[in-house]
Amino acid sequence: MAIERTFSIIKPDATARNLTGKINAMLEAAGLRIVAQKRLHMTRAQAEGFYAVHKARPFFGELCTYMTSGPVVVQVLQGENAIARNREVMGATDPAKAAEGTIRKTYGEGIERNCVHGSDAPETAAEEIGYFFSGIELVG
Ligand code: ADP
Ligand code: MG
Repeated sequence: MAIERTFSIIKPDATARNLTGKINAMLEAAGLRIVAQKRLHMTRAQAEGFYAVHKARPFFGELCTYMTSGPVVVQVLQGENAIARNREVMGATDPAKAAEGTIRKTYGEGIERNCVHGSDAPETAAEEIGYFFSGIELVG
């Protein structure tokens, strides 16, 4: 299995509840290594750019409002099969449908306020990492 990198966000609902450390512990327990991390407060334009693929979805405006409502922690995670492994430990988009022991099941508040983002494919991982980080910030 190849070593991969994926992009992750600890979302505003989670930073508001001071869950960064608890979520990081779950990521690390899942075999993922945090090779870059920073806390920032996204502007509207940055959120709209990040979620451009969802522009046509009915929840796009609300999603951008939520993602700019407070600080986030953006991260690059590295490990074997990191993209799938992260999606697994995150759990389903809707916390009510997420498996026991996942981040979203444990801490998610609802389908929008679901604690974490994780890339869904190698192409989106590379694109999303590049949106927030430069190469010298990734320390594996
Ligand atoms: P995921 O984050 O699991 O990859 P999506 O890419 O489909 O899910 O959606 C991106 C984000 O948009 C979700 O994590 C969630 O915060 C929000 N979202 C998804 N579906 C809905 C919905 N039906 N209503 C409100 N917000 C939603
Ligand atoms: Mg997605």
